[in-house]
Amino acid sequence: MTTDIAVGVLALQGAFYEHVKLLRQAATEVALKNGQRWEFVEVRTTQELERCEGLIIPGGESTTVSLVAARSNMLEPLRNFVKVHRKSTWGTCAGLILLAESANRTKKGGQDLIGGLDVRVNRNYFGRQTESFETPLALPFLNSRNGDGRNDTFNGIFIRAPVVEKLLPVVQGEQTGEGALDETVIAPAKEAEGERAKKQVLRPVEVMATLPGRSRTLRGEVAALGMADEVGDIVAVKQGNVFGTSFHPELTEDARIHVWWLEQVRDLLDNQDQHR
Ligand code: GLN
Repeated sequence: MTTDIAVGVLALQGAFYEHVKLLRQAATEVALKNGQRWEFVEVRTTQELERCEGLIIPGGESTTVSLVAARSNMLEPLRNFVKVHRKSTWGTCAGLILLAESANRTKKGGQDLIGGLDVRVNRNYFGRQTESFETPLALPFLNSRNGDGRNDTFNGIFIRAPVVEKLLPVVQGEQTGEGALDETVIAPAKEAEGERAKKQVLRPVEVMATLPGRSRTLRGEVAALGMADEVGDIVAVKQGNVFGTSFHPELTEDARIHVWWLEQVRDLLDNQDQHR
């Protein structure tokens, strides 16, 4: 029997429909085995979440999403999805904020994070709504898609966008040092138990894209990563099953990142199946 692979988009608030649209477009390019098909689900309940093998948390307003998620009793299921079951999860903009282990520029107690990425985000780094902008981004992880060696840029749409301002030590549990900072919230600890925990390998945070020319922070971080000094602000990161972007690919017509991400979802599933 073949089962379809369900991928969800959290549909509590924000640009979820746009993600579903691009996922459908991307799906035609990402082949599955044995006649399996992709299925895309708008996720508003725990039951819908439980059907999914991957999840996108869209842009919008992170405070609102976390309030609605708390009211719908979805915060814990979301944390389990990301940090215990380690399913593929991608957050864009507000979604990136929710997936961070630490976020500043936020009132203490005013926002619950899901966590999963050992980073600190600065919530409104790129300013207020009026300071939104678009800029061509080089996305090295997509280069392999351009077989002819071209390095096509991606139109980065930034709307009151956060930035990753610090890579945190990769720890199992809570980023306790972060909790002591003013106006910073942290995600609660969430760990797999028993046999599953033993199998979990902590992955490093990978910097997937930077925005050159706006660099004010991170010199030290970047040096530690062995990258060139003038790299700029970090606008995309990946840590194991979790991926986050500051910008909004769903507001473009370009499905390249969605194609790449669906391949990640598929490959992670294949891997987990082999180790089951
Ligand atoms: N800065 C916003 C927040 O805190 C995110 C903006 C967005 O998703 N476009 O939620």
